[in-house]
Formats: sequence, structure tokens, C-alpha cells
Amino acid sequence: MIPYGKQSISDDDIAAVVDVLRSDFLTCGPEVEAFESEFAAMVGAKHAVAVCNATVALHLAMLVAKIGPGDRVITSPNTFLSSANCAAFVGAIPDFCDIDPQTYNICPETLARDWQDDTKAVVAVAYAGQSADMPAIAEIARSRGAIVIEDGCHGMGGGFSHEGKNYKIGGHPWADMSTFSFHPVKTMTTGEGGMLVTDNDQYAQTARLLRSHGMTRNATEFIGLVDPDISDSSNPSSGIIAQSTTSHLPSHALAERGPWYYEMQSLGFNFRITDFQCALGLSQLKRLPEFVSRRRDIVARYNDALAGLPWLETPGVPDERERGEISWHLYTVQIDFDKIGKSRTEVMMALREQGIGTQVLYIPVHLQPWYRRTYGYAQGKCPVAETYYTRALSLPLYPSMSDDEVDQVVTGVKSL
Ligand SMILES: *Cc1c(COP(=O)(O)O)cnc(C)c1O
Repeated sequence: MIPYGKQSISDDDIAAVVDVLRSDFLTCGPEVEAFESEFAAMVGAKHAVAVCNATVALHLAMLVAKIGPGDRVITSPNTFLSSANCAAFVGAIPDFCDIDPQTYNICPETLARDWQDDTKAVVAVAYAGQSADMPAIAEIARSRGAIVIEDGCHGMGGGFSHEGKNYKIGGHPWADMSTFSFHPVKTMTTGEGGMLVTDNDQYAQTARLLRSHGMTRNATEFIGLVDPDISDSSNPSSGIIAQSTTSHLPSHALAERGPWYYEMQSLGFNFRITDFQCALGLSQLKRLPEFVSRRRDIVARYNDALAGLPWLETPGVPDERERGEISWHLYTVQIDFDKIGKSRTEVMMALREQGIGTQVLYIPVHLQPWYRRTYGYAQGKCPVAETYYTRALSLPLYPSMSDDEVDQVVTGVKSL
């Protein structure tokens, strides 16, 4: 069976994990920081904060940017649920603008057209690994006082080009934060895992705090357990309050900050990732360039072989010269199922019988029952994404796929 996606785990990957399992730290140890700094260096960002999956990375992005009730967050309908759910997690309204029919990404025109005054953030998804038009999206968002979060879950190690310069996803000036996923189906894996990257010191610091219960052991950040005004006996009125609430204790006892001391300064979570996952991440990171390059070769082979079929469209990459090295996560084609007289289910079954796995990515998020029920979204809101969905089929793409396997898929598709 040729699956539609598959992780690649080498002996070195396994050895790296085993080493950590034999070490003193299974979590909160040195591998986490090492993975963060290598990942930050790879994308060219100042900070990387490793977390247990990309859904929480998106949730943290909302929290650190103080997105909340009364705010609107616009994303693509052609994405995994998390890109939109993150807005709902913090009480904001997730909203959607339509996609471009060639790149399957949100475009500046639809974003500007659907903008509303309460929009505070845009989550721009790099669908299949191809970046949205980040410079234009950032200009629209920032000129209206909103921030840009790049959902780079499909684009690890990839980039794009703008005005002749190459930029990495997660390492360019047109996103305030970027998020990545290390789920096994993505381009590199830690089992489960995610990363939030940013150049913003405050965002990174807050994200680290919220990742671990909102607690700090850093003495320079301490606020104290006792309100200094209340415990100050020279203030007669506050002294009375202190007397009634802490009468059995001298306040200096509560003010002691020994080696055990920590403070919870905001309501945080346990969004941490383990050291053995980060060891896998570090090892996979070394192999990332090889993964990206093999995925690019497979996509080129598909594009050549499938060009010119009257009932199939290959992914559009506008102005090739303007685009840098795309890290392809998915190879999604558009098929005119009416023209070939078969339903998509029949096509998937026929390919399955030939040992070829396929997938449909994505069902437009705004049409999910919870979104329709909660926000009143309906069919017709994003017609391009809805049409795209009825014609989409993702073909197998993973780095260990051989040329023969690619050719087998091509033969299977051509025989439809
Ligand atoms: C996979 C994915 C996510 C969520 O990642 P997890 O690590 O599984 O939480 C979010 N956005 C996109 C575009 C994804 O593909």
C-alpha cells in the first residue's frame, strides 16, 4: 500500500530518543532548549517555544496577543480545524475569507473585502506548504491594527521569495508569530509536538510562562505573596485588613523566598513537550533539508506526468520566479469528477484497489456543524473553497516514496 503520507524514522532518530530515555531528564531538560534554539536558527527567528502540539501553539499565539471576547480572527476555510478553533478557545469569533482558486490559500483581495472593524488577527495558513501572499496580507492587517499569525504547520523548512529575496516560513517580517506541527503526517515529526516562533521578546516570554502553569522561578520577575501595602504596618488602614486576614502569621514569614519559591502570575496550562520528543525533533531537523528536497522532486515528477489531463488541475504556483523553495507537505490536485463520470468515493476506492492511498484536505471549516450552529455560517460563505473541496484529492507524498511508487500513482490516476 502506498499511503498518502508517512513519517520517516531512521536508526539515528531512534538512538537519539533512547539516549534521552537513559538520561536524567525526560521532560523540562536540556533537549527542549536545544531543539528550540536549533529550530529558531533554521527558520531565522529570534525565539522558538516548543509545545506539545501546534493546536496549543495557536492557542498561545491568541493568548499572548491578548485576543479575546469582542475580537474577530480571520483565517482560511481550507485548513485543519485548529487554525480557526484557536480563536474560539479565547472567546473571539473565528471568521473565514475565501481562497484563491490556484494556490488554495487566502488572498489579499478576499481578506480586504471581508475585513470587519473588530478583526484583530489574521491566521494565514501555508496550505500544502505554499505560503500565502504574506507581504500583502501583512500590509492589510497591520494598516488596520491587526496582527498576523502564520500557520506554517504544512511548511517546515520551506520558504518563499519576495522582491528577489528568499525568506523562510517563520523567519520573515510579515508575521508576528508562526506556528508549526510535528504530528507524524507533517514534514518532520516528534510524535506529537508543536512550535511557536516569534521575534517579539514579550510574546515569547509570555508564551513560556503560559506553557507551564503561568508560574515562574525567575527572581527578577517575582511579585510576592503578600501585598506590600497591606503588610506595611506604617499604613494604619491597610494594617487593619492585614490584622484580620493574617493575624496568626507575621507577614515577613510569608515574604520569605527560599529555594523552593515560585510564583503563579497568570492562569497558565501544561502545554509542555518532553525531552525525548525534542531529541527526535533535533534528529529530524538534521534530516529536514533532505525531506524537503525529496518532496520537491516528487512534486516536480507529479507535475510533469499529470500536466495536460483535461479533467485534472495540478497545484498552481503563481509567478514561479517569485517563489522560493516550497516545502511541499501535500500534493492536492483538482479533479472534475463529473467529466470522468465517477464520484470521488469511487475514485478513492478504485485507487485503493491498486494500492494507492488518497485523502481529502480540507472540508471547509465554516461548514462544520459546530461552526454552522455556533456562528450561523452557511454554504455560500466561501464559494471558491466550497467548490475546491468538492474537487480536491491529495495524492501520496512522503520522503521515502520511490520514483517507481510515484509512477504507479500516476498510472493509477491516468487510468481513471
Ligand atoms: C496539523 C495542523 C494543525 C494542528 O497541528 P497539531 O500538532 O496536530 O495540533 C494546525 N494547522 C494546520 C494547517 C495543520 O495542518
